[in-house]
Amino acid sequence: MPDAQSARGSAPVFLAGVLAAAFALSGCGQADGNSDDSGDAADAADEAPAPQEPGSDQFTIAATGDVLLHDNLLEEAAELAAEQDYSFAPLMSGVEDLIAGADLALCGLEVPIAPEGVEPVGYPVFAAPPEIAADLAEVGFDGCSTANNHSFDQGADGQERTLEVLDAAGLGHAGTARTPAEASEPQLYTLERGGREVTVAHLATTMLHNQGYPPPEDEPWRVSDVSPDELTQQAAQAREEGADVVVASVHWGEEYTDAPAQAQRDYGERLAAGGEIDAVFGSHPHTPQPMERLEGGPAEAGMWVAWSMGNFLSNQDEACCAPETASGTVAYATVEVDDDGARVRSMDWLPVTVDRGPTDDEPHRGIWSLRDLAEGEAPAAVELSERTIADRWSGILDVMTGRQLREQPPSPTGDAPVVVPRGS
Ligand SMILES: [Zn+2]
Repeated sequence: MPDAQSARGSAPVFLAGVLAAAFALSGCGQADGNSDDSGDAADAADEAPAPQEPGSDQFTIAATGDVLLHDNLLEEAAELAAEQDYSFAPLMSGVEDLIAGADLALCGLEVPIAPEGVEPVGYPVFAAPPEIAADLAEVGFDGCSTANNHSFDQGADGQERTLEVLDAAGLGHAGTARTPAEASEPQLYTLERGGREVTVAHLATTMLHNQGYPPPEDEPWRVSDVSPDELTQQAAQAREEGADVVVASVHWGEEYTDAPAQAQRDYGERLAAGGEIDAVFGSHPHTPQPMERLEGGPAEAGMWVAWSMGNFLSNQDEACCAPETASGTVAYATVEVDDDGARVRSMDWLPVTVDRGPTDDEPHRGIWSLRDLAEGEAPAAVELSERTIADRWSGILDVMTGRQLREQPPSPTGDAPVVVPRGS
């Protein structure tokens, strides 16, 4: 159903930068050719230490897929609102333990906040209500990536308002900037773990821009669309300035695919070879793709990549779109802290799924833990049929190859992180 898919998905995109274009030309979507590599990496991961009960010298960084506020979500959030105009928190409360259980939680905000005077609207040119920011914070997020192919749907005004609103909600942000100075600053978070202060740097970049909504030509610093070598350089700089762990959100790949495209894989492998980034959280395909530990990474200990986490909060499912759009993953990177520093030791995941009814006339009922639903623990409010739940569960296990699936959400191992304002 290509029409239905495109009607719900993103506008046509073009690759950012000459390097990315070169990758695209050199790659022909050799998904099959990659499967052996994935298997080797996954086998290697099996030999890694088994997950342990989290201690004070460990913590988890969670990242989620796309927050895409389609019209049906806006209508439901308006219905749910009491004092403000929109309330999204009830639509995410079903997965709050998956988010708030992490020590640091990062979202992928794929919609700009509506500039002053602009009415919120969904696809195809998004303008999100500002209420989404505080609601993301309410369910446990600490910050978001804002670099994606919709960053300039509302021009520089929307791109700036997005950062203002995130700041006001106490959320960090990475990937877009209001000034060249801000663009040069990673988003930092600090946590007290293992008897010391640990600084996590979050970088974000996009390989894609939407046709018709590119970054301003004379202000290219407003969005990061850098090469893997430049991102590696930014990570090295962050380490020089005190970061113990560097994670990166990368907006890349091809929509509605369940394995990394060649350009995506090339970019990820180049990052891993750079040896400065601990973990990569991928998004844009709107469908989940597996996790993999790539050769390289800091101290040659490997670099974990979640190729795509699919959707987080959206109005996409099998009724409109590719069936795999209904569910996404929460990727958890476990960081180990010792006297030598801190590094990502492993990555695993839990699935979330959307419950929106078969037509847009149905109320959107938010997102839920698909693992809980599949294990017969569906809250009464869930309207998904047992058949749909079973299909989605087996579908995501197939794509993720069943590996690195968590039993349950993590629990915080200490106090909440401090969000360090960029440029401070
Ligand atoms: Zn995208």
